[in-house]
Amino acid sequence: MKILKKLIWVALAIEIIVLLVVVINSNVDNMTLSKGEIYDFNTGWIITRQDGSSQKIKSLPYSEKSKAGEKIILSNTIPKKYSGMTMSFLSADKQFRVTIDGRQVYEFGVNDSRPFGKTPGSVTNFIDIPENLTEGKIEIEMISPYDNYASNITGITISKRDTSILNLLKSNLGNFAMCIIILACGITLFMLAFIQAFSRQTRDGISYLGFMCIFGTIYFSIETKSLNVFYGNQTLYSNLVFLVLMLWPVFMQMYYINNLEEKFQKIFYILLFLTLTNVACQLTLQILGVFDFMNMAFVSHILIFISGMAILFSLICTIRKGKDKLFALEFLGILAFIGGSAADLIRTYTIHIGDFGKYSRFGMTIFSLLMVFVHILKVIRGYSASIAENARHMQMEVQVIEEKNQELTIANEEAEKAKAEAIAAAKAKSVFLANMSHEIRTPINAILGMDTMILRESDDKDILEYAGNIQSASQTLLSLINDILDFSKIETGKLELVQGDYALSSLINDVYHMLLGKAKEKGLALNVDSDKNLPAKLYGDEVRIRQIIVNILNNAIKYTEKGSVTLKVGMSEQQNADAINNNNVTGSQPAKNIIITFTISDTGIGIKSENISHLFDSFSRFDENKNKHIEGTGLGLAITKQLTKLMNGKINVTSKYGEGSVFEVSIPQKIVSDLKIGDISEKYNATPDKKKKKASFTAPDAKVLVVDDVKMNINVFKALLKRTKISVDSAMSGPEALEMIKDNKYDIIFLDHMMPDMDGIETYKHMKELEENPNKDTTVIMLTANAIMGAKEEYLGIGFSDYLSKPVQAAKLEAMILKYLPEELVTKADIS
Ligand code: ADP
Repeated sequence: MKILKKLIWVALAIEIIVLLVVVINSNVDNMTLSKGEIYDFNTGWIITRQDGSSQKIKSLPYSEKSKAGEKIILSNTIPKKYSGMTMSFLSADKQFRVTIDGRQVYEFGVNDSRPFGKTPGSVTNFIDIPENLTEGKIEIEMISPYDNYASNITGITISKRDTSILNLLKSNLGNFAMCIIILACGITLFMLAFIQAFSRQTRDGISYLGFMCIFGTIYFSIETKSLNVFYGNQTLYSNLVFLVLMLWPVFMQMYYINNLEEKFQKIFYILLFLTLTNVACQLTLQILGVFDFMNMAFVSHILIFISGMAILFSLICTIRKGKDKLFALEFLGILAFIGGSAADLIRTYTIHIGDFGKYSRFGMTIFSLLMVFVHILKVIRGYSASIAENARHMQMEVQVIEEKNQELTIANEEAEKAKAEAIAAAKAKSVFLANMSHEIRTPINAILGMDTMILRESDDKDILEYAGNIQSASQTLLSLINDILDFSKIETGKLELVQGDYALSSLINDVYHMLLGKAKEKGLALNVDSDKNLPAKLYGDEVRIRQIIVNILNNAIKYTEKGSVTLKVGMSEQQNADAINNNNVTGSQPAKNIIITFTISDTGIGIKSENISHLFDSFSRFDENKNKHIEGTGLGLAITKQLTKLMNGKINVTSKYGEGSVFEVSIPQKIVSDLKIGDISEKYNATPDKKKKKASFTAPDAKVLVVDDVKMNINVFKALLKRTKISVDSAMSGPEALEMIKDNKYDIIFLDHMMPDMDGIETYKHMKELEENPNKDTTVIMLTANAIMGAKEEYLGIGFSDYLSKPVQAAKLEAMILKYLPEELVTKADIS
């Protein structure tokens, strides 16, 4: 690309050289139109005035005083050699007639008729000399409506007609060039004004300069006195000249009103007023025929002169203040224009005839070019200013955006902080709840344990009743705590499913037996209706499913006064096998999915239809006045719904207020074996176990250690095992337990989880590390009030053999001991 660009210049240089060679070395006919011979015919003239006096003129041009309307005759003899040629001279504002050898050969302005004014105009005349001259006597008879014009004569030339015309045009070539330059400047100035307006820059009246140039072009081309070659209406030309002269100052003044300081503007406003008055007066007087433009032209001249002076003065003041360097250029331009005009004005009043644009045309050309230059600079400056302004605006916008960004970043950081705080708070909440559950469960454990003792050992009817009440209140409290714990876990998204194989029949059994007592207390029938084709073994979270059914059954019993509560268990094929796959299944790989449906219906108080949509909202309870005596928190169904959702199940409620409700829960589960559950309804009719007053076994030779930091718990524990005759040692801290372990061999060790300083897990680990430890292989069972999910797996993973949840129940404790105690130490009791 670069090489190609260079080649352009090389090509240009070669072309110029070739042209130079052609011009210099060619010897061909010069085709430039020949100027031809031009002769001066300025001598031999006699001037004859109206009063009859005459005088020989030495040489043309000639001028003397004459009166308006005075007839002046110029006479001479044309040499024979000029016959057939053309005589040419300039005439200004006079009518004249030419006779050669007594015959009129030319006349100008004699028979003119014009609407107003008398000005015949200035014109270059071409008078053809007849071919056959006899004597060659020539007479030019001149008359002017104005003083001194008839007697003002320019030089006369004689040549062939085409030579005279060509000569006139050639001598004006420079003038025409200047007119074209002025015109081009005018057009450029208009374009600049347009750009200025278009790009919303401050407008400084460039278009007035444009008008000045256009008017200048008209004036200066007329002043060449050669336009009659193209169009010969002299009256039009002379009127145009006067009109231009009148209006010119208007544009000058308007331009400087737009460009100069306020104090100068006043001067120009005054001048503008005077100029416009002049225009109005001159037009009126000319039209009315009172005065000719010709007579009033001096007023226009004065106004142009004063305006020029005012401009020069104002510019000097402005430049001296150092306002803008460009004003200096403007000053130069206006100086050239005013200077040229002044020179031409002086000539107008001295020679009366000629090209009165000779110097001002030149001045105007300089002025126009400088003005174009100045305004191109100004427009560029305006452009760059507006670009700079735009850039500044953009920069400001960028700054605003950056500030906004910063604010956003800060807000983001704050939000992140708030989020972190919220997460920390939620974590703190669940830690608090876990701890709280432990803390509250421990005393409840004690209460329930002690109460069990009372129930077991007392025969006093009243005391048994009181103890029964304590038992039920404690159980309620325990379930309330469990609810709150579950709910907060769900809220923090911490509740996870723990899945495994389970027997559906035992689930139904558990649920049934858990609630049978309650139903009986209220005199309600609790029915179970299960499909005998249900699979016997399923894979899922048994504990949570039980929780769901117990919740709903519990409500059904709570909100039913008479009649029955029925649990119906059915199934349907799983539609979408993927639904359960989300549950992160571990363990055995079941083959088929199934949807188990638990339908719990009651004949209770029912739910108003408007309340059904709020049924699963947390803490919502309905008919509070009516149900005041029924305990509840409004959390049960919220938990139920969330648990069902967690297992990809659905829950549906239909109810008739006053008649009863039906809750239907469908949960997808996996089938573990093809065994069917069969008809299990019989089992539900079996009467529940009576309170066992006797222990299921005795083991007087067995020795267990219980470690718990709460004395009351130890007491309960010991009391619960009293009947079994097992010897129970106790320790109230981890280190104390370690000491005892070193010295004694135990059959089972029960370790509490939450203990200060050294907790159950740490104690267990230390125990395993003890060197001389007779209890290396002893079964260690974790006692825990921690109901957080996954605890069981954690304990077993550490090495504990099993875990027992607090509050410890006599039957479960006995069953646990029976499971792990060596058989030879156990004596089974007859409990029938
Ligand atoms: P609560 O602890 O109050 O029982 P739940 O979330 O279990 O809380 O139930 C919310 C409310 O729904 C109850 O207070 C009760 O007004 C209404 N409700 C729930 N189950 C039944 C039912 N089987 N029959 C009538 N009303 C019920």
